[in-house]
Amino acid sequence: MSIRKNLSLIKGAKNLKPAKPSRAEAEDAVRTLIRWSGDDVAREGLCETPGRVVRAYEELFSGYGADPVDLLKRTFEEIEGYDEMVLLKDIRFESHCEHHLAPFIGKAHVAYLPRRRVVGISKLARVVDAYARRLQIQEKMTVQIANAVNDTLEPEGVAVVLEAVHQCMTTRGVHKPGVVMVTSRMLGAFRGDPSTRREFLAMIGNPASGESSLA
Ligand SMILES: [Zn+2]
Repeated sequence: MSIRKNLSLIKGAKNLKPAKPSRAEAEDAVRTLIRWSGDDVAREGLCETPGRVVRAYEELFSGYGADPVDLLKRTFEEIEGYDEMVLLKDIRFESHCEHHLAPFIGKAHVAYLPRRRVVGISKLARVVDAYARRLQIQEKMTVQIANAVNDTLEPEGVAVVLEAVHQCMTTRGVHKPGVVMVTSRMLGAFRGDPSTRREFLAMIGNPASGESSLA
């Protein structure tokens, strides 16, 4: 078989989602990690733990079952010419870093400049959750939220800032508590017009200048 054909086979295989394991398999995996930590899975305090962990995972990673684009589909066009910034700030989120499965917790600020339509504000918070409740890196999550709003609402611009504390940095590795990671994605007017960007950053308390703190 030619190398090219081999490569395309590998590429095709990559696109196939592996079958979801059964609940029993997932619970067994938790037992393995407990044993790997050095504890006895049969002792009383731990015997219900695999079931609890697997149920917790269903909630923590429920974002895989959510469709952010679908969440933003229902929009309102009767906006009486409103063309100022719409900002939802301090949206708390809980996510997990895909490198260590450790939580990173923080807040998101999502703004857009409407062109023709607006969306119910709770929908923006739901979009943040839909991406947060997956294995993530903060940079990717920032871009995904901005792109989802941009592609569905087609506004004049979108701005997304995420501030978060990563437990993989505070409780392991370099052990640096209190470090806040800030990421941003600016599209359209927020990217091209410095005064629009400044207005947005002032409204969220300019995390880049260190004036904002995580509650
Ligand atoms: Zn990590």
